[in-house]
Amino acid sequence: MIIPKTREQIELMRESALIVSKTLGMLAKEIQPGVTTLDLDKKAEEFIKDHNAIPGFKGLYDFPNTLCMSPNAQVVHGVPTNKPLVNGDIISIDCGAIKNGYYGDHAYTFQVGEVDAETKKLLEITKESLYKGIEQFKLGNRVGDVAFAIQKHAEKHNYGVVRELVGHGLGTTMHEDPQMPNYGKRGRGKKFVEGMTVAIEPMINMGTRRIKQLPDGWTILTADGKPSAHFEHDVAMVEGKPKLLSTFDYVYDALGIESNEEDEFRF
Ligand code: MG
Ligand code: MG
Repeated sequence: MIIPKTREQIELMRESALIVSKTLGMLAKEIQPGVTTLDLDKKAEEFIKDHNAIPGFKGLYDFPNTLCMSPNAQVVHGVPTNKPLVNGDIISIDCGAIKNGYYGDHAYTFQVGEVDAETKKLLEITKESLYKGIEQFKLGNRVGDVAFAIQKHAEKHNYGVVRELVGHGLGTTMHEDPQMPNYGKRGRGKKFVEGMTVAIEPMINMGTRRIKQLPDGWTILTADGKPSAHFEHDVAMVEGKPKLLSTFDYVYDALGIESNEEDEFRF
């Protein structure tokens, strides 16, 4: 069952989303060769608590940490470790926070030092596919319209679209209806309604779409060992149009990146 939110509830959800956005911005400055994902995880936990919020992932389904940290061939749900990041790595950081009872949940894939051109392109196309999906999150459309747009853009570049893990509705729990897959057919699936709030999150592999899981019961990685990228935004349906609750502005400020990609979706 889709749970539409009131304007007031959407504003509270924006607060939660922005705590995650700021956390990702803080982390952007810290990411460099030699840093461990466990160090970054500790900094994120403190930062979220300092903002009077609760880490949203820690303890959820028994996940042990504040951040899902998935380097290189890891797709999502990577567990932070003591292994230092090295020049040329990419690292997907997925972060959740709870404030006023509502969840924020989004993700960005960062470059560590200098990354090769092929991998940079994977990041660029994955982020583009996220916005192609967001564009289709409008009244009159269905889940399949978002899914189709993401899949089409990724597959145009011969990338693999992960099937087993999907975006989702978001609210007082992390995973509400509907599921928001990154592959599908136009005009299919649940119809969008005013006030609904979702996390849209393409997980795109450079090679095969096939995945496997590490024995830790969490980490998902590509079956062929090639890199995977993941970008996620929280989006609300406001007056029939997609409005971003989350923002990558803090990341871009930290990294000195100019971007107008969010302009047409500002809340
Ligand atoms: Mg997430
Ligand atoms: Mg999510």
